[in-house]
Amino acid sequence: MSKVLIIGAGGVGTVVAHKCALNPDVFTGIMLASRTKAKCDKIATDIKEMHGVEIATAQVDADNVPELVTLIRSFGPKMVINVALPYQDLTIMDACLQTGVHYLDTANYEPKDVAKFEYSWQWAYQDRFREAGLMALLGCGFDPGVTQVFTAYAAKHHFDELHYLDIVDCNAGDHGKAFATNFNPEINIREITQPGRYWENGEWVEIPAMSIHKPIAYPNIGERESYVLYHEELESLVKNFPTLKRARFWMTFGQQYITHLQVLENVGMTSIVPIRFQGQDIVPLEFLKAVLPAPESLGENYTGQTSIGCQIKGIKDGRDRTYYVWNNCSHAEAYKEVRSQAVSYTTGVPAMIGAMLMLTHADWMKPGVYNVEELNPDPFMDLLNKHGLPWQEVVDGALPHEY
Ligand code: NDP
Repeated sequence: MSKVLIIGAGGVGTVVAHKCALNPDVFTGIMLASRTKAKCDKIATDIKEMHGVEIATAQVDADNVPELVTLIRSFGPKMVINVALPYQDLTIMDACLQTGVHYLDTANYEPKDVAKFEYSWQWAYQDRFREAGLMALLGCGFDPGVTQVFTAYAAKHHFDELHYLDIVDCNAGDHGKAFATNFNPEINIREITQPGRYWENGEWVEIPAMSIHKPIAYPNIGERESYVLYHEELESLVKNFPTLKRARFWMTFGQQYITHLQVLENVGMTSIVPIRFQGQDIVPLEFLKAVLPAPESLGENYTGQTSIGCQIKGIKDGRDRTYYVWNNCSHAEAYKEVRSQAVSYTTGVPAMIGAMLMLTHADWMKPGVYNVEELNPDPFMDLLNKHGLPWQEVVDGALPHEY
């Protein structure tokens, strides 16, 4: 018997709203609120047509705490699922504390004027959430999110010690556009153009952006060129699994994507430093976002699939062990079910599952601020199989790339 407020009506918000509506026994009332109410109304109409469920909609500026507080008080949810942008994480957490509701998001806070992901800002809320008897679950999408569930599951069932972790993320889909990003373009380009970073022997190793790459073979897809990036879940994983000697994150990019990105960077379009244009300050990257296709518009003719997994080496019962666990997700199937492409789908489904577990599972509702790998992975792994993201595993088999 729990009402949920979803904030953000983009690609991921669409999936979360559909998936919550498909589980009315847990989510007994749903409100979708965002900056542009028309987008919420469009999603609500689709949900009514496709699943016969009514959801409420509202306009909100999630940068504004008093506005959020008024909305939360008027709807009375048990929790907020934040799938707006990382810039809104702290204001929404503040509003949750003021109104006594639980919180979940899929991306860690970033200040708008520095492209820098770290958990410090949100971990600083630990005492306030604990003292209020409220829970905040951070980064519960796919990566971050399921990649940490996979790692926790590996540690619990297959290893005594984790030594090497490689998160391997492939999008082998084709949306037919010359250049588009699969989630919010501004956040995506900020992530890719900053220096890469990985963990090795107790410290962070920084590398120039996209400078380490190699082909990795993905299940049912084949080899794709994959690049080492910094990704936020590495920060909490190396803290929570201190036996890790190395932890890296790899993501595929096609040559066409990289060429476009290089040109955009070279001409200054990816900069987050404001420039003066026709009498007003504009941020080039925000302008670029406005002219690129919206992530939620890519779904209709998207073909191919994503494959995201964790490959791990370590020790079990005194012997070397390798382990690979992954999910493949079809863009077309995702679109058929919830009118979204697979990148939004693989983020929105875990957000719904995290919320479902917080609302129904004693193990998953604890006061304080948590990263996903700190909770029991088993019920999450079960629900992935039931709600559209089935996973597979290979123990002591060949890994997608050897090292
Ligand atoms: P979109 O840009 O498609 O959607 C973002 C939504 O948030 C839009 O509807 C936007 O409104 C709304 N929004 C932005 N600012 C505000 C504000 N101040 N107040 C209210 N609403 C606001 O992004 P995605 O759906 O692709 O991504 C959503 C989140 O998911 C991002 O934080 C992203 O980083 C994260 N993500 C996480 C992944 C994971 O695996 N963990 C993977 C992919 C994404 P408007 O429509 O008016 O612009």
